[in-house]
Amino acid sequence: MKLIDKAEELLKDLFGYTAFRNGQKQIITQILDGKNSLGIMPTGGGKSLCYQIPALLLEGITLVISPLISLMKDQVDALNQLGIPATYLNSTVDRYEIEYRLQEIHNKQVKLVYIAPERLESFLPMIQEVEVSLVVVDEAHCISQWGHDFRPSYLSIGDIIKQLPKPTIIAALTATATAQVRQDIRDILQISDENTVLTSFQRSNLRFSVLHDQDKITFTEDYINRHPKQSGIIYCSTRKEVDSLYQYLLEKSYQVGRYHAGMSEDQREQAQEAFSYDRTPIIIATNAFGMGINKQNVRYVIHFNLPKNIESYYQEAGRAGRDGEESECILLYHGQDVRIQRFLVEQSELSQDRKKHEFQKLNTMYRYCFTQNCLQNTIIQYFDDPIETPCGKCHNCLAQEETSTKDYTIEAQKMFSCIRRMKERFGLSMVAKVLKGSKSKKVLDLALDKLSTYGILNDYTEKDIQQFGLILQSEGYIDSYTSSKNNLPLIRLTEKAIQVLKGEQNVYLRPIQTVSPSNWDKNTI
Ligand code: ADP
Ligand code: ZN
Repeated sequence: MKLIDKAEELLKDLFGYTAFRNGQKQIITQILDGKNSLGIMPTGGGKSLCYQIPALLLEGITLVISPLISLMKDQVDALNQLGIPATYLNSTVDRYEIEYRLQEIHNKQVKLVYIAPERLESFLPMIQEVEVSLVVVDEAHCISQWGHDFRPSYLSIGDIIKQLPKPTIIAALTATATAQVRQDIRDILQISDENTVLTSFQRSNLRFSVLHDQDKITFTEDYINRHPKQSGIIYCSTRKEVDSLYQYLLEKSYQVGRYHAGMSEDQREQAQEAFSYDRTPIIIATNAFGMGINKQNVRYVIHFNLPKNIESYYQEAGRAGRDGEESECILLYHGQDVRIQRFLVEQSELSQDRKKHEFQKLNTMYRYCFTQNCLQNTIIQYFDDPIETPCGKCHNCLAQEETSTKDYTIEAQKMFSCIRRMKERFGLSMVAKVLKGSKSKKVLDLALDKLSTYGILNDYTEKDIQQFGLILQSEGYIDSYTSSKNNLPLIRLTEKAIQVLKGEQNVYLRPIQTVSPSNWDKNTI
């Protein structure tokens, strides 16, 4: 019997599933053929099986490197329940127990060993002695400095793996990776291009919405009321905001929990457990919550604030609907959240280069928040996935059904010529001030009121002009770049804008909406 047939048998008889999911079979086949592999699958796509099944079929042990210490116990327990011998080594296990487990490994009494990256080095002499058939690097994006969750403890993985006796197969798995991060993972772990398995990032059971300028608390409370008994995650960008929303909802007797890095480990564990078992079906959290959360029935994820980039957003939002049921992902956009995110980057200890990179990634969030295209498509396009037909149910797809586009060519031309007259050396907020005809000190000091484009959009509010600019940016007319002097985001025109200026192209957009399309509520889950 071929190994892959045995794999199929295990899938059915041991794990109890009828068929492999997209990508699983290919990754498993490659691993069983001894090929180093990179698997990129959306959250909930079923990455664990991709190495658990080969682990059972390969001679030696399988080492699973994972940063998710809190999850190891659960995973090992689940495997043990299926009768699969597995164990884990991390800082939560005391010295004597470690000794005992090492002995077990030595005696070949286990098939899978989960290990935290920090532990790898000290464990190396030991693994050189036992036969390791497969090394799995879970959450492999953590290895890349360009990933959104780079972990220094992952840096040494590549070197340590090189010291393992051959032939050890390497499998790297992640839910989020841009082309650059993928290349990084392949370089560090010596995986060839053709052994990369990318399953579609589309999550067709998720409905995405971006709502602008809502009263966030009212919206959230109302949403919870309209979805009683459902489980949801509400992400905020700061601990302070988590605490205040949590207090507010608690005082109103909602069953809510909270989670952030400022809480003690015990408190966090309890909060996570109460959420998992639906004792508090709603949790308010910072992004410290969730990596590796395995709750299946999360029906909605609301982002109370703007996340720092698309990868984080998709990973967090993707925690909704892991069971495949229809679920909702809502982002509440407020201009000032961008400033908070910029501030968080600015005051971080990242290098100058790195900060610049983070700012650029923050810009991708703008694109998402202001695009008029299908939101699901906007995300998968970011991950270099081929575009699918529009999802037909996101906020933008619904708005499109309801509202027709208008010709904004004249307004766009005015904005573009203003950007040009300002020599493409300013940010959008200054451009908006000039177009509005602002008398702000900075405008006057720089004599920008002398430009012929000064005040030519004064029928609009400054905020509307800014929003208009952000939409034009999303639609690819304006390009944002980072000033090398002070990291401020500046804007310039793209070729597409030049064509509009020359009168060769018209600009059609839906009117800038602050209200939701009326069919949104009707369709709400
Ligand atoms: P990931 O690590 O990719 O986020 P998991 O490995 O935790 O996802 O799998 C998510 C869920 O999907 C789990 O509950 C798992 O049991 C289930 N699952 C995995 N593979 C299959 C399959 N082939 N058929 C049905 N369910 C599956
Ligand atoms: Zn859509």
